[in-house]
Amino acid sequence: MATGRGRQLSLGRIAGIPVYVSPTWFLVAAIITFWGRDVVLRELPELTGGEAYALAFLFAVLLYLSVFVHELGHALTARRLGLPVRGVTLHFLGGHTEIERDAPTPGRDLVVSAAGPLLSLALGGLGLLAYQSIDDGVPGFLVWMLAIANLLVGVFNVLPGLPLDGGHMLRAAVWKVSGDEHRGTVVAARSGQVLAGLVLVMPFALNGATPPVSVIIWAGLVAALLWSGATQALAVGRMRARLPRLDTRTLARRAAPVAPDLPVSEAMRQAREANVTSLVIVDSAGRPTGIVSESSVAAIPEQRRPWVTIGQQSRSLQKGLILPLDVRGDDLLKAMRELPATEYLVVDGEGRVYGVLVTSDVDHALAAR
Ligand SMILES: [Zn+2]
Repeated sequence: MATGRGRQLSLGRIAGIPVYVSPTWFLVAAIITFWGRDVVLRELPELTGGEAYALAFLFAVLLYLSVFVHELGHALTARRLGLPVRGVTLHFLGGHTEIERDAPTPGRDLVVSAAGPLLSLALGGLGLLAYQSIDDGVPGFLVWMLAIANLLVGVFNVLPGLPLDGGHMLRAAVWKVSGDEHRGTVVAARSGQVLAGLVLVMPFALNGATPPVSVIIWAGLVAALLWSGATQALAVGRMRARLPRLDTRTLARRAAPVAPDLPVSEAMRQAREANVTSLVIVDSAGRPTGIVSESSVAAIPEQRRPWVTIGQQSRSLQKGLILPLDVRGDDLLKAMRELPATEYLVVDGEGRVYGVLVTSDVDHALAAR
């Protein structure tokens, strides 16, 4: 998925993987520092207010360091399994690892998704162990808080709904059992939407009728992120399920070859006669040199058509406007994204004109149920 890096700060590469921080992180760090002060002072009343702020801020930094370890678990596992990793971004509610393409098998998808929460749970467990042998006071308090936070991160992320790791695991499991990747996506995304609803009502279920406002806001925020992530996963899944329909062989329209000096009216007459709607400009040797945009021809007034040549209405062929016959699915979309146009020339293996691919036909194929 294309994501702008414009508003993210690059932290360089760690273990060869680019790492970014979203500015929203600073907001959350500020909130943790601000609210954390009171928590710190309640547990460690001997500290000054300034020291309490500093400790709360240190906690925020260490918390995100452990979130980073979680993401690194995904990233390194993906890379080890041969999936290219674009980068790790730390943001608002945690992190995100961008993997070049989805795991091609449910097994690999499952392993990559599980690696993050497993590391979080392991960090939490280690923290609890370490806490046993650390004296009370600042270090003990910090280790205890981090252990609990990591356990929470681990448990929250294995909840079985997209966009959470547990959702990816559920998707992989359904895919494995049913053999249908799309069904896996639908089940896991719907489950994510249900989770979003549960998160929203959770404060009321736990606190009775009057949960604190801050808890309601927080739950609302998490629920909104879950809901939008799940809904987006559903939309992407639906689109991916339609990708096999994208085949230049069936989508390309037949085209009539015309000489560039032909008047538009005559070219249109020839197209009608051949019962085609697309025109391709060819040179005297029959090689394609240009492609005619249907809309620009239609825009010429009837009485002008005998006086304008079809060549003037064409777009000369450049590399990205020519698509080979065997490009389909996701590759076709990628090729079209490289040079957006309303029409593309489709050629066969010998470079001969096969037809014209009209972008709106591709859009229709993707949108149709
Ligand atoms: Zn994760």
